[in-house]
Amino acid sequence: MMFTVAIDGPAAAGKGTISKAVAAHYGFAHLDTGLLYRAVGAKVLAGADALVAAQTLQPSDLDNADLRTHDVAQAASQVAVNADVREALVTFQRDFARRDGGAVLDGRDIGTVICPDAAAKLYVTASAVCRAARRHKELQDRGDDISADQVLADVITRDKRDAERATAPMVAADDAIVIDTSDMTIAQAVAAAVAYIDTQRT
Ligand code: C5P
Repeated sequence: MMFTVAIDGPAAAGKGTISKAVAAHYGFAHLDTGLLYRAVGAKVLAGADALVAAQTLQPSDLDNADLRTHDVAQAASQVAVNADVREALVTFQRDFARRDGGAVLDGRDIGTVICPDAAAKLYVTASAVCRAARRHKELQDRGDDISADQVLADVITRDKRDAERATAPMVAADDAIVIDTSDMTIAQAVAAAVAYIDTQRT
């Protein structure tokens, strides 16, 4: 059985948490597509060419704890502007989406570009202030010493770059449901996602 769930939205809106919970709920595989761009960004920071890095990316490149840093996130959003880099990552994502047994992919352009025919599409968002506060806590817990103001400024810069780029900009698909998690607990957000996906499975 093939069933694709596309979950898009800006940084730290809760997509990752919701995606993992949805995948566990239905027994689907999960791909955090941001990791692909982060892995390319990390290689660029290490001196590689962005396109070569994207064309030669291996699944093992995604298992790197350093991909979660703030510097890598910024580098990821810079390489993500490059249409050739994006194109080089399409096949891997589509193959993952079509796997037997169901798949959840989260990112920025899953419902619009990678899987426009996904059975269920969600756009998970939250206010910039709320997302920055969550991301700041995450980074601090990881030992990344960065100010709250800097994280908010970076969230806003990254949102703008992701939303305004010419190729595959971050936008809700016309047929996506929008979940704003600003005032929701994780449990409430996951319940809202599952309730919607259930309606698409019948
Ligand atoms: O989701 P995450 O914050 O890990 O993504 C890092 C960056 O990768 C984003 O800011 C965005 O520029 C890029 N990205 C993208 N398309 C995706 C997933 C991530 O452009 N499907």
